[in-house]
Amino acid sequence: MEHVSNALFVAIHASVMLVFVVPFSWKVVALAFGGYGLRMWAITAGYHRYFAHRSYKTSRAWQLVLALVGTTAMQNGPIWWASVHRRHHKYADGPTDPHSPVQRGFWYSHIGWIFDRTIPAPRDESTVQDLMVYPELRWVDRHEWVPLVAYAFACFAIGGVPGLVWGFAVSSVAVLHATMLINSLAHLWGSRRYETRDQSRNNAFLAVLTFGEGWHNNHHFYMSSARQGFFWWELDFTYYTLKVLSWLGVIWDVRVPPRSVLGHSAPGLARHPTLRRGSRASALPR
Ligand SMILES: [Zn+2]
Ligand SMILES: [Zn+2]
Repeated sequence: MEHVSNALFVAIHASVMLVFVVPFSWKVVALAFGGYGLRMWAITAGYHRYFAHRSYKTSRAWQLVLALVGTTAMQNGPIWWASVHRRHHKYADGPTDPHSPVQRGFWYSHIGWIFDRTIPAPRDESTVQDLMVYPELRWVDRHEWVPLVAYAFACFAIGGVPGLVWGFAVSSVAVLHATMLINSLAHLWGSRRYETRDQSRNNAFLAVLTFGEGWHNNHHFYMSSARQGFFWWELDFTYYTLKVLSWLGVIWDVRVPPRSVLGHSAPGLARHPTLRRGSRASALPR
């Protein structure tokens, strides 16, 4: 969040307290939930599974829609996000991971890293060349405040000042912390199906909260899959919506884990040479 100033970041947290001041209505609570659903979905289906991992294909128009909606979540532009996230996977829980609770503790991995100016510029353009080729994405990345302000105006238009407090402040802070729990808690709390070199965990609570991102150990083991809940009992709301979008022809080439990944859950799997090669290489940006 290099572009979001620290003051704005603190201000939006403080303005959550205004829920005790502004007139209450169920309409603005619904707006907060709706804003949470739309933007959490855009982060997981768009920023994470599409821009960072390219786990499915889509048209240039739909790619732009994902970028614009994702940017309303106050987490910078898609290229910045993908760059930081690819670095997280490359160095997961190592000294150069931008947000590792194993290296720097829970609070640093959750929120401290955003304010840390001692780490080198988190955006490494060499890792996001596949996204940099699109001028419209570079524009969104540079002007990430435009969709954010437009979203705030929409909240105001729908619900006035209470709409702004619930639909923008409360909802944005909730999306932000739910997303950041994947950086912090999903590397600390939960079970490990795969013996990955990082400390990623599978956590059902986080999976519900983040529409499927809580299956983080699955994801670190096979990051190029658009499906993160590998089995039917691992709820992955984002993947269900991606299935529907693929039926509608909006997206295609949706990648899922191969049988060899699903069939091996014993410790030692991560050392399987073929699987390791496959899961790493396929995740590289094309
Ligand atoms: Zn992780
Ligand atoms: Zn990832």
